[in-house]
Formats: sequence, C-alpha cells, structure tokens
Amino acid sequence: MAVKSSPRAGQGRGAEGPVLNIEGRDIPLRFKVHARARRITLRVDAHGSAITVTAPSRRAFGDALAFAERERAWIARRLERIGARIPFLPGNSFPLRGSQTVIAAAPKGSAPVTFDEAASLLLVSGRVEHADRRVRDFLTELARRDLKVRVGVHCAALSLHVPQLVVRDPKARWGSCSANGPLSFSWRLIMAPEYVLDYVAAHEVAHLAEMNHSPRFHTLVKSLTPRVRCAEAWLKEKGHLLHRYGAAR
Ligand SMILES: [Zn+2]
Repeated sequence: MAVKSSPRAGQGRGAEGPVLNIEGRDIPLRFKVHARARRITLRVDAHGSAITVTAPSRRAFGDALAFAERERAWIARRLERIGARIPFLPGNSFPLRGSQTVIAAAPKGSAPVTFDEAASLLLVSGRVEHADRRVRDFLTELARRDLKVRVGVHCAALSLHVPQLVVRDPKARWGSCSANGPLSFSWRLIMAPEYVLDYVAAHEVAHLAEMNHSPRFHTLVKSLTPRVRCAEAWLKEKGHLLHRYGAAR
C-alpha cells in the first residue's frame, strides 16, 4: 500500500523507451493510444520528467514521434514554465523540514555538510562538483533519522515491532510497505513540513496493522498523527515540486 506522489506519475515506465533531448536534458517520451483522439497531442507532466504523446492509433506513433520533434520549442517553453531543476549548489535554496534553506560554501576544513537550522543555512565544504551529491547524501541521512524516530513513535503507539526502514528516491510514491518487508520512504520527505513526513510515516505504520484503506485504517492513521487532511492536501498540491531539487541523475 503506497502513498502515491501523483496520480499520473509512474505510468507507462519500464523498458527503456524513446527520449527527446531538450536543451541538454533527455526526457522520456510515453505513447498513449486514444481511439477518439482527433489528432496527436502532447502533454508535459507536472515536474517535467516525461512527455506524453497521445495518438488515435498505434500506427500513428511514427507521426507522433515526428510531431514531438517538431514541437521542441513548445516543449522547452513548457519546461521553463514548470521550472528547471534546482541542483544542491552554493547560492541555491530549497525547503528543508518545510523552511526555505540557503546552501553556502563552508570554510576550508569544515565537515562535509553542516546544517544550521536556526539560520536556515546549509554549509557544504569541498569541491563544488561534489556539492550536489554531498547535500543529497546528507538529506537522505537526515530523512532516515527523522523517519526512524516517527516510525518508532507510531509503532510504539500500536504495540508493533519496529520494521526495517528503507529510504530511496522513488518517482511515484512517498512511502510504501508490504506485509513482511521493510517500510520504504522517499528521502525527499525531509524537504516537506514535519507534519507531512509524520503523516506518511503514520500511514505506512498503520498498514502494518491494516493492510487496506478501510475506514478502520483511516481511524488508525488519525489516532497516530493529527493533521491528516492538511498533509494529504500538501502532498497533492506541492509534493511534485520536491522532485525539482537535486541535479538530474
Ligand atoms: Zn496506503
């Protein structure tokens, strides 16, 4: 059972498909057949990670590819409007536990990454080409720590054993769990406000007791975390924006 990051994310992925290179970025193309489509249409997804081309029939896919090639300028404009990626580099800022945080170069000899939460400042040392990876590693560890604490609290409340915790970078979900396997979360939750991370932790822990989305499950989630509605609304409206941060990999 998963907390999905967007209703459309993750559809049609899998085998390596065609890509369109727009200003140095390879963007996967997804083809969809829609029998009632009168013409070929293009859609750039919410965080600019894919382009969906809809055609009236499978035979039109060749035309669809050519159409996407011709519409490169339009696609580039759409991507610009959505907002280009924001790598973790000195001078850039990003949300950390919901507060806009500035990245700055640390003085020589400092720890790789120092987080001054009171000043909303993240200091990164070393060569600039390593900064993005260093910050990402730091944020992944911070996410793991915060999630471990919240999962621990929620498991204690339900008298459950604390399961193994996995922190990854999935495209289509914030958290997931299987009956016996570990609980899995997106490190990007560390950028969201704390009540959002707490909600996702509570949602997945509640699935250890109720492997469904029944009224009993929802009652359980509400008993663990106070701002369920707010957190769900936040993820729906702003969650996709968290995928803009960090250099493309
Ligand atoms: Zn669920």
